[in-house]
Amino acid sequence: MIGCLACDLTAGRVNLPSGEILRTDLWAVEHCVGPLGIGTLVLKPLRHCIGLWDLTDAEAGELGPLTRMMVTATKSLTDADQVFSSLWSFSGGEPGHIHYVLQPVTKAQRDIIGKSGPFIQTAMFDADETLDPEAVGQFCDRARSWLSAHRRD
Ligand SMILES: [Zn+2]
Repeated sequence: MIGCLACDLTAGRVNLPSGEILRTDLWAVEHCVGPLGIGTLVLKPLRHCIGLWDLTDAEAGELGPLTRMMVTATKSLTDADQVFSSLWSFSGGEPGHIHYVLQPVTKAQRDIIGKSGPFIQTAMFDADETLDPEAVGQFCDRARSWLSAHRRD
């Protein structure tokens, strides 16, 4: 859908400098463009789905294995002691293209922020620290290499 950031990124209408990390026939994985830290990924259906109820059986069937594979990659490539998986959808106050945010979180990060759970994400959005594009690109390269070595189809 034109005007949907998730669709525009997937279709190349909006530039994603770090490129896709993975694309299946049904799902795409990209680095998050928001201020949620290096290594935070977005897993989204290629179709413009605004709720989990929109997923086909095939899309739902890929979701679990893809989530497990990408959080395993993230855990392997960062010093996170947990990787959050949270479903996001709202865009401009309305249900939008669903996407899972897969976010590595460390104890050090929790100690610095002084909060846990969703409050970490809130604090990071409040801080609004722009990610270093070079660091994002390096992480994406490492993630693609990890997938080349570990992905089982
Ligand atoms: Zn969309």
